[in-house]
This record gives sequence, structure tokens and C-alpha cells, in this order.
Amino acid sequence: ISLDPQAMFKEGFLKTVYHERPAKHILTRFPPEPNGYLHIGHSKAIAINFGFAKYHGGDCYLRFDDTNPVAEEEKYFTAIIDMISWLGFKPFKITYSSDNFDKLYELAEQLILSGGAYVCHCSDEEVKKQRGEGTGRPRVPCPHRTRPAEESLQEFRGMRDGKYKPKEATLRMKQNLEDGNPQMWDLMAYRILEQPHHRTGNKWRIYPTYDFTHCLCDSFENITHSLCTTEFIQSRPSYEWLCEAVKIYVPMQREYGRLNVTGTVLSKRKIMKLVDQGIVRGWDDPRLYTLVALRRRGVPPGAILSFINELGVSTARTNIQLPRFENSIRKYLEQTVPRLMVILDPIPVIIDSLPDDYIEEIEVPFNPKDPSVGSHIVPFTKTVYIDRSDFREEDSKDYFRLAPGKVVGLLKVPYPIKATTFTKDPTTNLITEVRATYEKPSEGDVNPPKKPKTFIQWISASAKHASPIHAEVRIFNSLFKSEDPDAHPDGFMADLNTSSEEIYPNAMVEVGLNEVRARAPWPAEAGEGGNASMKENDPTATEEEKKAAVTRVEIGPETVRFQGLRVAYFAMDKDSTDDKVVLNRIVSLKEDTGK
Ligand code: ATP
Ligand code: MG
Ligand code: MG
Repeated sequence: ISLDPQAMFKEGFLKTVYHERPAKHILTRFPPEPNGYLHIGHSKAIAINFGFAKYHGGDCYLRFDDTNPVAEEEKYFTAIIDMISWLGFKPFKITYSSDNFDKLYELAEQLILSGGAYVCHCSDEEVKKQRGEGTGRPRVPCPHRTRPAEESLQEFRGMRDGKYKPKEATLRMKQNLEDGNPQMWDLMAYRILEQPHHRTGNKWRIYPTYDFTHCLCDSFENITHSLCTTEFIQSRPSYEWLCEAVKIYVPMQREYGRLNVTGTVLSKRKIMKLVDQGIVRGWDDPRLYTLVALRRRGVPPGAILSFINELGVSTARTNIQLPRFENSIRKYLEQTVPRLMVILDPIPVIIDSLPDDYIEEIEVPFNPKDPSVGSHIVPFTKTVYIDRSDFREEDSKDYFRLAPGKVVGLLKVPYPIKATTFTKDPTTNLITEVRATYEKPSEGDVNPPKKPKTFIQWISASAKHASPIHAEVRIFNSLFKSEDPDAHPDGFMADLNTSSEEIYPNAMVEVGLNEVRARAPWPAEAGEGGNASMKENDPTATEEEKKAAVTRVEIGPETVRFQGLRVAYFAMDKDSTDDKVVLNRIVSLKEDTGK
């Protein structure tokens, strides 16, 4: 997997991060909330945090920011770990914010005693008013702000021990109401959530907020560069304030611009709606832009990383149109995957001039531009299947594929064929069979046939060779009609494209697919780790941590990828069975044929 941080980290970002880097071992962290599946935007955060550490010979933690038990679920932990290793990164260690609950609680008590926090009993409404939000009035301090530290401490313990119900008490930091930055106006540090936690069970009724937890956990882990998105610029003063207030090491927070893709939805709530209403198969439906969906569709992890690399990292927020992402995937596949002949909608062509038992073994390279990946044999016989779209009942001057009286080349077959007649089903009016002749010049022919203008893909079957493979092919188009589904006056659901999926149930793939399957993953490097930074001999890592930090790269059906000549790039779908191959279109061959 290619990741070139030197090229990736653009000037603006380098200025703020690289040049200020302290001369010590670089430690970063990727801190997802385990409350949903990762999406394309997260791959930027992953590439930055793991890539930056790797570039400097440092390490990157995977830290689950699990401080809100309400939204968190076990399945998300596993999915996140899987996606990071799929992208080729190995966390230095896997940690959990909740592992620090005891320590965080101690620091909260310490902060109260030093006059840096107080227990507040105001309602959300009252707090808003105090902050002057929506009233236009000046800010006023909360009446509990001046209560004695000893009293706040007793009340905080009360919160912990069940004296209050949710919302009846919170712990707030005593920051700086004079500051122009709202993130310094006494942010909440702890709230009561009568909710068991998936790791700490029923031990806690109070849970620390993001604002209280994140900076302190960064500090505990000695993070040198806390890299986050630009929405957090405003939170930087509060981040530093808290570390200083409890007198611990202050990591350096720096910010980069979010990656946003247009023409789709990424929010958990919206994807959930698509899943619940059966619009898509699930969170991994190939039309979605979650990482599980991109993996299922067959997008190689290396293509995602090279896309991120191309965009570069700066503080600017990036809005990317889907065709640009697809272009990047196409470029990557073009250089890395083998070629095979695929026929979406086959019709038989009987070559009358060939004997019934005719077999010519044709050698087809897996990649005409790269002989090193080898070749395979396909049989050419009296009956060949071609795509319905490559035949026309009536010829015309500007048409270069097969038609009665017209000559067309079959890829890699020495001589062209010429159609003579065809048969149609009277009820469906569809072509059922084409008759043709093989245009092999007879001996001593002084006028050999001209090279045909077009070569089409074809498939033959022979008893001697493995059979062609029958497949269901799924072609995906954009799930939405517009660039900005959310802008639709009736909501994003009203913008759904009703033909976002076309199915070809009777497609055929030539026998070379067997070898491509046997040699998967394609590209061959797809399964390699991008970051060998896990220190298996790290003396501070526990056995459990070491085991958890070992990457689990899957060899799934989607690693069977190829270019269907003249058709599109495909990968095998997980719905494939022993009897039936299901193929997903990863991307079209050219941008303008994408719809
Ligand atoms: P948010 O932080 O906005 O709530 P989220 O809830 O979707 O994002 P988290 O699990 O909190 O996801 O994110 C983990 C990390 O990935 C965070 O550091 C977050 O800032 C980053 N991240 C999330 N979305 C994007 C994006 N679109 N582009 C870049 N980084 C992102
Ligand atoms: Mg979130
Ligand atoms: Mg978040």
C-alpha cells in the first residue's frame, strides 16, 4: 500500500505540525466513538494518524472513545478494528477511554478541590440562558459556581452514588466566562447516565464527557500530536486548560480539514433509514460509502489510501464529488488487476464454417501491459457467446460491431467472424441466435481479410476445458439523483435514484476466473500491512493488548478483482456460493459510461 506522507502532508499542515514536532518518539491516536461504522471520511483520519506516526518512525494507538454507553455496541468495535487492518495499519495498542474511568474520576475530584470544577443543578434551559444563548443578554455565572469546593466534592460523590437522577446534577469545569470562546464557558465534565457500560458494567452511573476525557486520555498515553478535524480548533484552549488545571503533560492538538463526499449520505442516522426501509442490503451495500461497503464492492484498500494521498492534508475542508473518487479507484485498478472476458447478456453465435468438434486453444494474457502476471488458455469453438449489445440486426456505416454481412474481430482470435443470419423469438422479439462464418483466408489467398475495426469479447465452451462460469452481475449507479441529497425540499429520501442497481442474472465469465480466484487477492499487495509499527516485544503491552493489536487482514471474496474487457471493473460479492458467482461492478471503465 502506497502512502507517502511527505507528499500527503501539504505545506499548511506541515507548518503547524511537522515543524513544531518535538524531538521525541511520535505518538498519535485514532479515536473513534464505537457508535457506528466507519466511512470514507474516517479513512482520512486513519491515514493521517497512522501515516504521520509511520512517517516519523513513531506509533499510533487505536483508542475507542467509549464514554457514551447509550450509543455504543460491541459489533462496532470489531468492525472498526477490521477496517483499520483492512486499510493495512497496525495499531501500536488498542485502548479504551473507559480503561481510564478511575483515573479520570480521581482527577475530577482533584480538580474540584483545587477550585477548578463545581457541581451544578441547573437545567439545560437555565445553562443556555446563563451562557446568553438566544437571549442576546450578557453571560451570567451559574449560581452554583461559587459554592465551596468541599460541598461540590460531596455532591459529586452523591452523583456517583445515586443521590441524583440524570440531569439533576452535572459536574462543570470552572473555566473563563470572560473569554470570547464559548468552549471556555464552564463546559460539562461529568453527567449522570443510568446506563450500564459494555466494559465497566454497572460500576458507574456517571460518565465523563468528550471535553473532559479526550485531552486527559491523550495525556495519559503521552500522545505527542493529537490530530483532529478543524471543528475542534475552538476546543483547543479548553483542551489545554484542563491538562494544565490538573497539572499533567499537555499534548499538542492540531487540526486538519474534514473529507466530505457529495452525492451520497454518510450520517449514521440516514444510512440507518436506508437500511431499515430496505432501500439497501445493509451497512455494507456496495452503493454506500461506509468502509465495509467499499470493501464489499471490491475497492482495494490501496486505492482508498492513494486517493487520500492525492488529496493531501491541509486545514481546508474538502468536498469531493464521487466521480473524482471513482477516477482514483479506476487508475489504481488499471495498474493492478488482471483482465478477463465477461459477457453480461450472452447470445450464441454459431460459426457454420467450422466443424462441430473444432477447438482452437487461444492464449490470453492476464494483463497485456504486464506479461509478468502470465496468461491462460481459453477454447475457441464452433459456438461462441457474445454480448447482446455487440450485435445489430441492421448494419450501418458508423457501426463497427457485428451485424449481418459485417466482419468483427474476437479478442485474441487470429481471424475475424462475419455474421450471416439471425433468429429471433417471436414473442419477446429478442435475438436467440446468430449465424456466422470464420474469415480464415484459404491457402494462397492473395487478398487476406483486412484487420477488423473492432474486437469484441467472447466466450466458448468445450468439453475438454473447464466450463465458463455463470454469474449474476450487479451494476451500481449513484444511490441519489443529485449532488446534494440533503438539499431536496422533501428530504434526502425524496432524492433516491430508483435505478441505482441493474442486475444481469445470466452473465458469463471465461475460465480464466478460476485462476484469478486461486491467485486472489488482486492486487497482490492488497493484504500487506501499511504500518509495521506494532511492537510485539513492547514491554509495557499486556498479552491481551499484543494479541488484539495483531492485524486481521481478511481474504474475502472481494479480493477476486478483475477488469472485464470492454465492460467494467468487477469483484466477487459475498453473496457468491459454490453454485453461483455474484459480481459487483467496482467502477466503470470510463467516467462518462458510469450512468
Ligand atoms: P465526529 O467527530 O464528527 O462526531 P464521527 O462521530 O463520525 O465524527 P468519530 O468516531 O468521532 O466519528 O471519529 C473518529 C475520528 O475520525 C475523529 O478524529 C474524527 O474527527 C475523524 N473523522 C470523522 N469524520 C471525518 C471526516 N469526514 N473527515 C476526516 N476525519 C473524520
Ligand atoms: Mg460522533
Ligand atoms: Mg466524534
